[in-house]
Amino acid sequence: MVKADNINDIIDHKLFSEDDIHEMCVRLGKQLTEDYAGKKPLVVGALKGAIYFLTDLTRQMDVAHQLDFIDVSSYGDGFESTGKVKIVTDLATDVKDRDVLIVEDIVDTGLTLKFMKDLIKKRGAKSVKCCAMLNKEARRNVDVDLEYYGSKVGNEFVVGYGLDFLNMYRNIPYVGVLKPEVIQKYVN
Ligand code: 5GP
Repeated sequence: MVKADNINDIIDHKLFSEDDIHEMCVRLGKQLTEDYAGKKPLVVGALKGAIYFLTDLTRQMDVAHQLDFIDVSSYGDGFESTGKVKIVTDLATDVKDRDVLIVEDIVDTGLTLKFMKDLIKKRGAKSVKCCAMLNKEARRNVDVDLEYYGSKVGNEFVVGYGLDFLNMYRNIPYVGVLKPEVIQKYVN
């Protein structure tokens, strides 16, 4: 019987430590500072997974910016995509003529990112780019650009640092791979 109550019980192995993630934020923050110099971007956090990355990333950006959040979901309560994307909570800000930077936890098939980019472009944004912590590039099945990312990741289900399983384990301070037994326990 697998216990799934605390971190030691559910993580198979660590993929990115707190230091690794800090380095990603520093490197990306520097790049974004250069690329958005003289602009006042609207940084859009994709709820809920991106909030941990967003707070660390934006504090490495020496650029005046505004923040908003959007919640779109393509995944159900598990780890398989439903293949459909819907708006759960919309932006509060008018994006017309704005330089928008979407911050994501992970880009997998690319479906969610394409949906958000198309929506924001349709509303008249001047530019729409994305910065994700992780890029599951090999799983991409829609044509969408991911301009900035911290690291590529393989086809493993990862949790922590904002990434969830059944809306749990977001608060793990690093990114790790879930034990297959934990997934089995909930799937069956
Ligand atoms: P996409 O639309 O690109 O297929 O899916 C993006 C969303 O799927 C992410 O924002 C995230 O919520 C979820 N996702 C994809 N891969 C993983 C993963 O390995 N772990 C977790 N926790 N969520 C994932």
